[in-house]
Amino acid sequence: MQKISVSKELFDDILLKKTVVLTKENNKYWKKILLQPKIINDNIEYSIKQFNSLTITNGLAKDSPSLLIECKSIDYSSSKNCFEFLLGKVIEQKNTNLDENYKDNLIEELLREKELLKDEMNRDHLTRVYNRRKMEYDLSVFSKQSNSSFLSAVFIDADIFKGINDNFGHEAGDKALIYLAKKLNKHAKILNGEVYRYGGEEFIILCFITKNHIPQKLSDLKEDVKSEKISHDYKNISITVSMGVSFLSDCIDASEMIRKADLAVYKAKNNGRDRIEFV
Ligand code: GH3
Ligand code: MG
Ligand code: MG
Repeated sequence: MQKISVSKELFDDILLKKTVVLTKENNKYWKKILLQPKIINDNIEYSIKQFNSLTITNGLAKDSPSLLIECKSIDYSSSKNCFEFLLGKVIEQKNTNLDENYKDNLIEELLREKELLKDEMNRDHLTRVYNRRKMEYDLSVFSKQSNSSFLSAVFIDADIFKGINDNFGHEAGDKALIYLAKKLNKHAKILNGEVYRYGGEEFIILCFITKNHIPQKLSDLKEDVKSEKISHDYKNISITVSMGVSFLSDCIDASEMIRKADLAVYKAKNNGRDRIEFV
């Protein structure tokens, strides 16, 4: 069995698979170990001896960290003038304290990735606010909370949005939706709530706020949305929104609250748009 002692850093890198090619310079020692002479037609030719596995150690003492690792091939690189050991999987490890740390780090990393994926599944791709799926989940949680008597749904529908696409193009429409989502996020914080893209140019804010505070705060939101222009291709676009508001305390359940908020939006549209209606 060929044993190779390496530095602590390299040992850890091999164990963590950050290094998969171990290089050794073409010197007398390695030539003697690796080159096998053969006489072919009165000429001496060399082949490189192959090992199925290697023992890599950090230090030569008995209790030094060591690992038995698969060796897929040993080649000679003429450009680097060195032997290259292509390493495979770790077969056995001894005295490595990294194995436990390594597992812990790996688990932590996987959990982090899982959280990121979960968050991604709950978000709308264009505006980055939460999506309808997340809204349905939150709604089921919020409606069972002890403060559910303060829960209300604000349905927000951009006015004549089709006109923005028709007049300025779909890209401008997308930009307007991103602008609107940003404004809604800002005001959702004031409303003690969260924004969700319900679909298309429709958003919902689920918030916890008293009935007498909500009209002024929503009026501020409505004015803030139209206060700024969205610039696109040197053109300035402005948008307005119609809103419908319902309260869980006035409904039999959460889905009725959403239905009623949606109906209130229709009322706002019929009454001339750019307005707020309550049910
Ligand atoms: P109303 O005031 O009655 O709500 O009129 P509206 O034009 O906003 O309503 P309508 O339902 O007729 O049209 C909605 C438009 O929103 C049509 C659709 O192309 C556009 N829309 C939906 N999602 C997106 C999107 O992701 N990007 C863009 N650019 N447009 C979108
Ligand atoms: Mg709509
Ligand atoms: Mg609309």
